[in-house]
Amino acid sequence: MAQYLDLLLEANARFNLTAVRDRDTAWQRLILDSLTLREALELLPPGSQVIDVGTGGGIPGIPLAISLPGAGVNFTLLDATGKKVRFLEQTIAALALTNVQAIQDRAETLGQNRQHRQHYDAAVSRAVGTVSEVLEYTLPLVKVGGQVLLLKGAEAQEQLAAAGDALDVLGAGDVAVFDAYPEGTGDSDLVIISVLKDRPTPATYPRRPGVPKSQPL
Ligand code: SAM
Repeated sequence: MAQYLDLLLEANARFNLTAVRDRDTAWQRLILDSLTLREALELLPPGSQVIDVGTGGGIPGIPLAISLPGAGVNFTLLDATGKKVRFLEQTIAALALTNVQAIQDRAETLGQNRQHRQHYDAAVSRAVGTVSEVLEYTLPLVKVGGQVLLLKGAEAQEQLAAAGDALDVLGAGDVAVFDAYPEGTGDSDLVIISVLKDRPTPATYPRRPGVPKSQPL
């Protein structure tokens, strides 16, 4: 984890990978916040596939992959920006991570790609857009029976309340919101939104690149 932070903070001085610059804050906001999703993912059986949508510099996917080395869970890191994906590829090689791959693409495009659509057991995402927007990026990539896990701040409940149509249309089942940290520890605003998928996503979703953001469901 420390080696990953070294690489991330060093690259961040050259081009923007994260707004966090200070090392102590980076341990908390980048590493520990990412690891709050670990408990949900360690329940996955060996051979499971997880995708991190809008991973940027690898958050939350790389800390999760580092923390689950022998679990047989494979992580795909997705980002639209080539520079970020090149950083991820160099980092995966430098840390000799064998359970991670990086892909440069838009979530709207990958969600319509047969090799990736409804292929993943879980999708994770942090700081990529509103709940409605991110559900349109993630749910099409997840299998029926799979799960979307979103790390969200204080805006979670309000955005979730506005995402009713997205949940309905995209095939969501049960939705739950958990505090990411036990009471009295960590960031009290950070929550995990868990969305189970119980129906296939209609072929018309995700819509064309840019539409989930400009015309959220
Ligand atoms: N998840 C990381 C984190 O928490 O530090 C990065 C967050 S950054 C604010 C949002 C990232 O999502 C950017 O790297 C951007 O390129 C990516 N992104 C935004 N929309 C996307 C889309 N439609 N498909 C793929 N990546 C996208």
